[in-house]
Amino acid sequence: MDSLIVETTNHCQLSCPFCVRDKLTRAKGVMTDEIFERAISEAVESKVTTIFPYYFGEPFLDKKIYERCQYILSKGLRVNLFTNLGIPIDENKISMLKGATGIVISYAPGADPEVRDRNIEILRREKFVIVMHVVDENALVVPANTIGRKYDIKVERFEKTNWHGVIHCPGPVKDGRCIRPLEELVILQDGTISLCCMDYDGEIQFGNIMNTSLEEAWKKAKPYRVLPKSKLPFCQKCNMAVLEDYPKWVQDLFHEDD
Ligand code: SF4
Ligand code: SF4
Repeated sequence: MDSLIVETTNHCQLSCPFCVRDKLTRAKGVMTDEIFERAISEAVESKVTTIFPYYFGEPFLDKKIYERCQYILSKGLRVNLFTNLGIPIDENKISMLKGATGIVISYAPGADPEVRDRNIEILRREKFVIVMHVVDENALVVPANTIGRKYDIKVERFEKTNWHGVIHCPGPVKDGRCIRPLEELVILQDGTISLCCMDYDGEIQFGNIMNTSLEEAWKKAKPYRVLPKSKLPFCQKCNMAVLEDYPKWVQDLFHEDD
């Protein structure tokens, strides 16, 4: 397992049109220190290399996100932080994020432009590597490109995801082994260990990090690594990319490991 998504909070101030937050049935909150530290300790134990300290929420709504990133970095792990940039960044604490591999801005149409622009200026001044991700729809790409040009930020387009088939997306769903469970697991804000970034409601669970090791969870998740989507009821309608879509050298990185 290369990456661990740690949902430091699942609160979000926005309601993006491509998001399924309105379908979330699990509790909303901020991860406790106990769960967070246990997750990072397990990540170290399992030789995870990169932590994504966010998932179904805006990480800057977690008042401790700066300290948490610093904690992850102090354990020798990489930090990739995603943000919608709609919450003012604390200038007094921004240096605590130094060492983060990158900061990804998810283009969110509802983010306050003044707050967003100020945040971008702070991040640029502090020389963070920033890129902007945008869902590949004209109405979103045009304003994202405008911001990208203004601040000289690389804009990367992404196919709209269908959240394991919950919302409609054009195009066929390819069958094959999904790329996601080959590289990641997710720790939800209450400590539940779940399958992947498309399982937004944590339906597929492998225990709770407070009483289950990541190694045990990784073993339980094996069917999702070795079987094609068509054999996995939860995955059959998901439009996430499959391993066969990638060049051979990428495919060779992933092999059956247990
Ligand atoms: S900012 Fe992210 S979590 Fe929040 S509504 Fe938009 S896509 Fe969903
Ligand atoms: S195919 Fe399954 S494992 Fe892959 S992203 Fe979709 S729901 Fe997750």
